[in-house]
Amino acid sequence: MAGFTTTIVHADRRDGIEHNALHKPVHNNVAYGYDDPHELAAVFQGKQKGYSYGRQINPTVEALAAKVTQMEQGLGTVCFGTGMAAIGSVLFSLLRAGDHFVSSSFLFGNTNSLFNTFACQGLDVSFVDATDVENVRAAIRPETRLVFVETIANPRTQISDLNRIGALCREHGLVYVVDNTMTSPYLFQPRTVDASLIVHSLTKYIGGHGNALGGTVTEVGNFDWTSFPNIDPAYQSGNPQMWGLTQVRKKGLRDFGAAMSPDAAHHIAMGAETLALRQSRQCQNAAALCRFLDAQPLVHQVYYPGLPAHPQHQLAAELFRHPGALFSFELDPAIDVFAFLSELDIIVKSSHLGDNRTLAIPVAHTIYHEMGAERRASMGIADNLVRISVGIEDEADLLEDFSKALRAVEKSQ
Ligand SMILES: *Cc1c(COP(=O)(O)O)cnc(C)c1O
Repeated sequence: MAGFTTTIVHADRRDGIEHNALHKPVHNNVAYGYDDPHELAAVFQGKQKGYSYGRQINPTVEALAAKVTQMEQGLGTVCFGTGMAAIGSVLFSLLRAGDHFVSSSFLFGNTNSLFNTFACQGLDVSFVDATDVENVRAAIRPETRLVFVETIANPRTQISDLNRIGALCREHGLVYVVDNTMTSPYLFQPRTVDASLIVHSLTKYIGGHGNALGGTVTEVGNFDWTSFPNIDPAYQSGNPQMWGLTQVRKKGLRDFGAAMSPDAAHHIAMGAETLALRQSRQCQNAAALCRFLDAQPLVHQVYYPGLPAHPQHQLAAELFRHPGALFSFELDPAIDVFAFLSELDIIVKSSHLGDNRTLAIPVAHTIYHEMGAERRASMGIADNLVRISVGIEDEADLLEDFSKALRAVEKSQ
């Protein structure tokens, strides 16, 4: 089989495109017409492959979905307008009032907020420290249906006990949902730890250029949906491996309308071609910056799975191609974090991550502001914690930017 990048850059062409174009065209199209009304009916009844309506299906979006399926070596993928829409659609499509699910407590902030919203609507959630499978096991009850984890959590870079949680879910017949945004399929394929469904925010590393929002849900093909109690009889036909994803597509896209636009799909597909190149450079830069910062007296602690002192350093080395391109660090409490950030010139003060540009954000004052000081403390978010999403700039320029900012705040002490 061809390698990761070879497969992605030739995916459209191999599909056979009009005029021998190398890219799929952008089909900014909503409705599809059929000369034969029997055909129209057959498409709507799922008896014939075809296009029904833009909220449910679009050729440009389907081409991107096929790329993500290839990257994850899965069975099928559904695209959504954002990563949050993908996560929300999985839970609201597959769970019912009275069901319980277990989630890592080290979560993307908006996912945490979304799960608390679901908890107000009849789903029950337990947040546990998922770096140890025993915490997940202890939370399982008879009504537990699903486990949700991220690969590397942001901002503190905790890594879930991914393979052991996979084995636990298999043992208990639980849907294992892995948010692979932080690693991307280039660094890690959750299929290797027995994930059932993989979710992505394509907005981050896969798109990579900060110009389009998107999310996906990918079916891996190893979950027994015939024994899952919440599949609507309407979707219990055809290949049973696809029942879960079909329900996610019908409820998330057709009913809830969380669709991706064709323009976004095109931008993200272009970005995906260079995922491996960008991310290996970003990871190299991240490793160099962490080594540098770890040795600075004004930096108290650096959180990065590539450093030997990281609690899951060994696990990261076993599972991931590189330990990622995101890290965080605590400045000396005597330093004003805003004064330090103001001294950065190349590094952009921004909330995004996975971009070509290096981005810095004071976590407690921005993305974790709403949850309050107590919850922040329980999550290990110090007031002077800075998160860095490393870009593709030249390493020496990034090192110099940090070095200059540290010298400036040191002088003003
Ligand atoms: C950004 C992010 C999301 C949400 O994705 P959007 O595309 O911004 O909606 C979900 N999970 C993780 C881990 C993320 O980093």
